[in-house]
Amino acid sequence: MRGKLYIIGFGPGSFEHITKRAREAIQESEVVIGYNTYIDLIRDLLSSQTIVRTGMTEEVSRAQEAVRQAEAGKKVAVISSGDAGVYGMAGLVYEVLIGKGWSRTEGVEVEVIPGISAINSTASLLGAPIMHDSCTISLSDHLTPWEQIAKRVEAAGQADFVIALYNPRSGRRTRQIVETQQILLKYRSPDTPVGIVKSAYRDREHVVITTLQDMLNHDIGMLTTVIIGNSTTLLYEGLMITPRGYQRKYTLNSDVQRLKPHQRLRSEAEPWALEQWDIEDESNVALSDAESTEWATPYSVALEALNLVNLSKGIMERYSQVESPQLSFKQQSILEFAVSPGLANKKFTAKQMTLLAEVIGDEGDIEYTPHHQLIVRVSVANPEQITSRLRSEGFLLQPIGDVVQLKACDFCNLEKADSLPYAEEINQLIGGLKVPKELRIGFNGCGMTCYNAVSEDIGIVYRKEKFDLFLGGKTVGRNAHAAQPVAEGIEPKDLVGIIERIIDRYIEEGHPNERFHKFFRRVQKLEGYRFQEVPTFVIENAICGD
Ligand code: SAH
Repeated sequence: MRGKLYIIGFGPGSFEHITKRAREAIQESEVVIGYNTYIDLIRDLLSSQTIVRTGMTEEVSRAQEAVRQAEAGKKVAVISSGDAGVYGMAGLVYEVLIGKGWSRTEGVEVEVIPGISAINSTASLLGAPIMHDSCTISLSDHLTPWEQIAKRVEAAGQADFVIALYNPRSGRRTRQIVETQQILLKYRSPDTPVGIVKSAYRDREHVVITTLQDMLNHDIGMLTTVIIGNSTTLLYEGLMITPRGYQRKYTLNSDVQRLKPHQRLRSEAEPWALEQWDIEDESNVALSDAESTEWATPYSVALEALNLVNLSKGIMERYSQVESPQLSFKQQSILEFAVSPGLANKKFTAKQMTLLAEVIGDEGDIEYTPHHQLIVRVSVANPEQITSRLRSEGFLLQPIGDVVQLKACDFCNLEKADSLPYAEEINQLIGGLKVPKELRIGFNGCGMTCYNAVSEDIGIVYRKEKFDLFLGGKTVGRNAHAAQPVAEGIEPKDLVGIIERIIDRYIEEGHPNERFHKFFRRVQKLEGYRFQEVPTFVIENAICGD
């Protein structure tokens, strides 16, 4: 009879986390071979099996013994903690078999039974740190040259992988984790969240959340896995969470999404996708003036897009060349966005001002623009940390650049706020959407229009429970002019749809950098509203600074 080799990962160590197949295989086996500690961990599953226990450095003799017993016709279980295929016994057993000229058809049968590896068990205790691309690196240099390990740490650091460090430190190997920290500090902020988990799902389980800077001040040993966050990993209520990127398309704290389901997979909703990296065809991606002429690399295209959508100008702009042609992140990135106390609310509280000052610190800056906006620029490793703090203090955060921005009035100190829900709906649906050139929608709650809605690219004025619409204001230049009144008395139920369709068309048909008023003039008709030439005298265009 042909023998059988089960190579089993029994998970982190608790009975509940051993898979059913692993339990069956251990119970079916006649011989169970494993490292002493592991045999103890699964002793509840053992009955009449012959047990072969060996010490820590005896993996090779364990594998050889397993193969021998299987060749003698036995059913043999070789056990590893976690997953047997992750720094476990699976590869070694196969190598021993290969050394003996084993064949799949003639030789002993082999079944590898998967288990929960430490990267998964420790991550579950930390929150959700490996939500994005991650890698495992074993710091053990007993079998792998340190030079190679250091190279992998370097590469993972550069490429912004979340990293799970296995075998991080032992009684004798103490320098590797120090070197690793040093390498990673070249690419990541000292504040990068780090999780240290000892004995996950075992008796002496211990979980610590710290930072890249402070990680060495905690106990790290052979039973520990260290998880290093990437540049976006954030801390929340003592949990480590790496965003998947949903915030690029979705508004997570709202039931209403600005991209409708059919829009979410459109190419313009994913300017960072590979498809859009075609520099030959710049028409599908709008670059800012300077960039389109100076460095229209695929990176700049993607960066610009990311900046706009992500609120985090600079996360990728900070790509810089290092010795190799690979690209890397610098530790810090510039986060740039507009803050206001709300769409309608124009009053900052003292607490908000204090928080703003704290967030900006000595290094950041804040700019007051002609559009009664405050633009904040701060250098951060973790944009979400700052944005979530500001949001929790009631700030409205909006992306800047070539995006749709809604500029509402204060609705007479919120006394005439009947139309405010429409402004909010428009903002949720299209606020922040990337457009060929920056576009402001002025929204005023009464016919006084004291916040000048009619001088914006698009003006919306609420009057007698209906809306008046103005299109195509020329907001700058000596020949600036107000937007054209195109409709009066639009029914409230129709307003949002009309605006959305106008913006959709501008996104789809506008040329890069084409301002909305020029677009309106070129297409002549939007939603049935006809463009009318603005009677104006000829005036030489002035260049800024003249
Ligand atoms: N095959 C195992 C890894 C073996 S290497 C797996 O897939 O998980 C041994 C290393 O795994 C340890 O140094 C530690 O870094 C990690 N490890 C294994 N079990 C662990 C546990 N319960 N808690 C934390 N780390 C663990």
